[in-house]
Amino acid sequence: MQNWNQMFRTITKRSHHIQRKLQGASVLSVRTYADKSQINADVTVVGSGPGGYVAAIKAAQLGFETVCVEKSDTLGGTCLNVGCIPSKALLNNSYLYHLAHGKDFESRGIEISGLTLNLEKMMAQKSGAVKALTGGIAHLFKQNKVTHVNGFGKVTGKNEVTATGSDGSQQVINTKNILIATGSEVTPFPGIEIDEDTVVSSTGALSLKKVPEHLIVIGAGVIGVELGSVWQRLGSKVTAVEFLGHVGGMGIDMEISKNFQRILQKQGIKFKLGTKVTGATKRPDGLIDVAVEAAAGGKNETLTCDVLLVCVGRRPFTQDLGLEALGIELDNRGRIPINNRFQTKVPSVYAIGDVVAGPMLAHKAEDEGIICVEGLAGGGAHIDYNCVPSVIYTHPEVAWVGKTEEQLKEEGVPYKVGKFPFAANSRAKTNADTDGLVKIVSHKETDRMLGAHILGSAAGEMINEAALAMEYGASSEDIARVCHAHPTVSEAFREANIAASYGKAINF
Ligand SMILES: Cc1cc2nc3c(=O)[nH]c(=O)nc-3n(C[C@H](O)[C@H](O)[C@H](O)COP(=O)(O)OP(=O)(O)OC[C@H]3O[C@@H](n4cnc5c(N)ncnc54)[C@H](O)[C@@H]3O)c2cc1C
Repeated sequence: MQNWNQMFRTITKRSHHIQRKLQGASVLSVRTYADKSQINADVTVVGSGPGGYVAAIKAAQLGFETVCVEKSDTLGGTCLNVGCIPSKALLNNSYLYHLAHGKDFESRGIEISGLTLNLEKMMAQKSGAVKALTGGIAHLFKQNKVTHVNGFGKVTGKNEVTATGSDGSQQVINTKNILIATGSEVTPFPGIEIDEDTVVSSTGALSLKKVPEHLIVIGAGVIGVELGSVWQRLGSKVTAVEFLGHVGGMGIDMEISKNFQRILQKQGIKFKLGTKVTGATKRPDGLIDVAVEAAAGGKNETLTCDVLLVCVGRRPFTQDLGLEALGIELDNRGRIPINNRFQTKVPSVYAIGDVVAGPMLAHKAEDEGIICVEGLAGGGAHIDYNCVPSVIYTHPEVAWVGKTEEQLKEEGVPYKVGKFPFAANSRAKTNADTDGLVKIVSHKETDRMLGAHILGSAAGEMINEAALAMEYGASSEDIARVCHAHPTVSEAFREANIAASYGKAINF
């Protein structure tokens, strides 16, 4: 096994060297492996997104001979290339621009004249972050002795993966275990063709060449409001059309959602909730007419924009994986069915991340990857999905973990609520950044924390304290009794728990 891998690494190393030389000679594509070669592995991971690459590193650290097959030229999957990372770079920079451009800086005594937006540079900073992080995975693979195979992976047997390069050359990997981590792709909108120019998916919206005059976003879920925020801050008029009656997608607490919507509206985003898009037509002048009507039926309207962003979700990517031949059938949402050890009906084939059930989140994929390979090494395989946090990286951010009030009502669980507004938090006040609140739901009798819902500028960081508390089964009183540094916005989290546990906060 070792010899095969050594041989493969030598081939890879040599071909990288040749590739560099040929790139200098303007040759477009060179495979990183020889035709029809074969290697052996203990674990072969198909896909190098946050689920796949983390699983591969962990597997190698646990002593498995590990191969990771990736079809794209860069590692890191959706998250690093066209998801979490580039969107957060743009969210951060557009927020800074918005602060400097609006009245905010002025009110803090920071006066700027001649401020301009250099979109090309902003995009270059985003690309730099992506390049550094995706390159970092290649480095980590090397350090941990994960063999990276660049090609499209197909499961060609219960212990075999065949990777096909873009030039058709093939590599067969004989493997004890296969871990599918092929992630997801943009869900298309029936009848609307995405050209990634004026009709874009999230991928195109991360690389627009100019600021749209009017951006219409179909879908006011997490990605829709994040990308809508980016372009609104940079100067676009933004209208988000949403079928549901609320913003922020599934799983958000309704009280938080209403407050969040109000704040985004104040920032300038227009929402058409309870409204469905029925079609879009490109006009000869380049603009796009978007036909909408009330979700319940009735009132029709045509909106016009220069850029249309389709953001109606993502679907599992399982195309040409070879699952049918193994007898693995997908569920009704196109996901790979697995048991609680991430194992498909074929015992040597496992699946994790966006391609299986559960929230489509990078950290969920990472955790599943780690736990899955620990299970392969003989360890336990347990994940509490109730403790997986969700974050919307707008300003203010929204973050939650555990149950919402609505869910607890539906489940008939007795609960109590503790709230604390950031307007009463000293750090938020000194920062002049007081929008939002912390809302805690705890069990009425046991005081155990059941859910945390935060709308505030540091919500995405604060939520990890709530996730930790929930993983350890903490009560609200447990958190209330933990000393929190002053002045910090996290004190609002403690205060909301004081309110939940004792019925009253101290500073509100
Ligand atoms: C705009 C946007 C913003 C997002 N922001 C966040 C965020 O802030 N936080 C968060 O938690 N989540 C975020 N997400 C979601 C997150 O990106 C995904 O949940 C996460 O990437 C899923 O990880 P994964 O490993 O399952 O799959 P992916 O990241 O999709 O990776 C799958 C990989 O498999 C490769 N692949 C597929 N098929 C094959 C094959 N047959 N052979 C070889 N390779 C193959 C693909 O090329 C890809 O590299 C965002 C998504 C988008 C689109």
